[in-house]
Amino acid sequence: MMSTARVKIKSSDKSIKGGSPLIVSDAVSYVDKGLAEGTIIEAVDESGKFIGKGYYGKQNKGIGWILSRNPKERIDQSFFEKKLKAAFKDREPFFEDPLTTAFRVFNGEGDGIGGVTMDYFDGYYVINWYSEGIYQFKEFILQALRNLTDFKGIYEKKRFAEKGTYIEDDDFVEGERAQFPLIVQENGIHFATYLNESAMVGVFLDQREVRKAIRDKYSEGKRVLNTFSYTGAFSVAAVLGGAVKTTSVDLANRSRSKTQEQFSINGIDYESQDIIVEDVFNYFKYAVRKKLLFDLVILDPPSFARSKKHTFSAGKDYPALLEQAIAITEKNGVIVASSNCSTFGMSKFKGFIEKAFRQTGGKYKILEEHRLPEDFKTIKEFREGDYLKVVILKKLP
Ligand code: SAH
Repeated sequence: MMSTARVKIKSSDKSIKGGSPLIVSDAVSYVDKGLAEGTIIEAVDESGKFIGKGYYGKQNKGIGWILSRNPKERIDQSFFEKKLKAAFKDREPFFEDPLTTAFRVFNGEGDGIGGVTMDYFDGYYVINWYSEGIYQFKEFILQALRNLTDFKGIYEKKRFAEKGTYIEDDDFVEGERAQFPLIVQENGIHFATYLNESAMVGVFLDQREVRKAIRDKYSEGKRVLNTFSYTGAFSVAAVLGGAVKTTSVDLANRSRSKTQEQFSINGIDYESQDIIVEDVFNYFKYAVRKKLLFDLVILDPPSFARSKKHTFSAGKDYPALLEQAIAITEKNGVIVASSNCSTFGMSKFKGFIEKAFRQTGGKYKILEEHRLPEDFKTIKEFREGDYLKVVILKKLP
């Protein structure tokens, strides 16, 4: 792990020299073949001048991350501890909030170390490793956690199998094992989490502010359709906000029992809500046939999904998805359009909305916009890290 290698960056590169920490393979003119994951690397320009140092670790389009622009800085225990300490300090308001016990405590490059994130769940930490390279620094990061926190337990997700998928394993690392479901809170909403089941633990923490908005401003007396509902987190927020009825639609079988559980732990009778295990695109057709209309429609599809009949790619198919949602939204109804796809930004996303309404011949008004919440810290030099786009809009008559 402690060997060092040089990586040459093309003179045409602007992004790394401009401060982006991701070493994209397209920007590299030379790198030793067969470098071990976790090798410390020094990025230099074509003339050999120092740009930054970091580690070798393959992740999507990158071969590693720059961790420091200071040639003298050592990538050692104290480096990791310093970064974690600063990140924890930033999250103090979250640690102190009794109504929110789950949040992100370390957000990769946003907190100075690309390739690793860490979430807090009521005393337990879940570390996400995005490359085998960063995994080589595991002991430094664990030691930093031991020094800085009195955690109950630590879990990990190794997200670096082929194509970045998750390696199925016992995710428990150390401390005490949690009892599952581990119930956490977010602005007073309860969520059942399972830190040791799969890559997804039951709730996506980056949507906290959107759930709050749905509960506090858009649900009272409304009929709500939540598509791609997963464990029904948005539906729970809607019922707590006074929705008369929610309909949650997700293709995955597990979504039914998971959604029932999220309702139950919030004191909601799940029998009074509709939970439908079905392809959303079929459900839209059914709703049109039955002339169903909703006052609030939530769209939060994955960036890419393949079902039996459909392939959905957000960058291409979002406008068509929206068109179908518009068709079953009541006049003056509200649509929550969300995308976590990192290949396009907010302005392109708004273009999708514009296009969908142009196709349907309708008018709309944007009520609010959301990006990643504060605990999902991002840096302006790495815009792909700022992936979340949520637009809440009103369908005008
Ligand atoms: N909105 C959710 C997160 C969505 S995750 C939340 O707030 O927690 C994406 C979900 O989309 C997954 O649960 C997956 O099963 C579901 N999904 C993917 N393709 C689908 C399709 N064609 N129809 C219905 N659900 C789909």
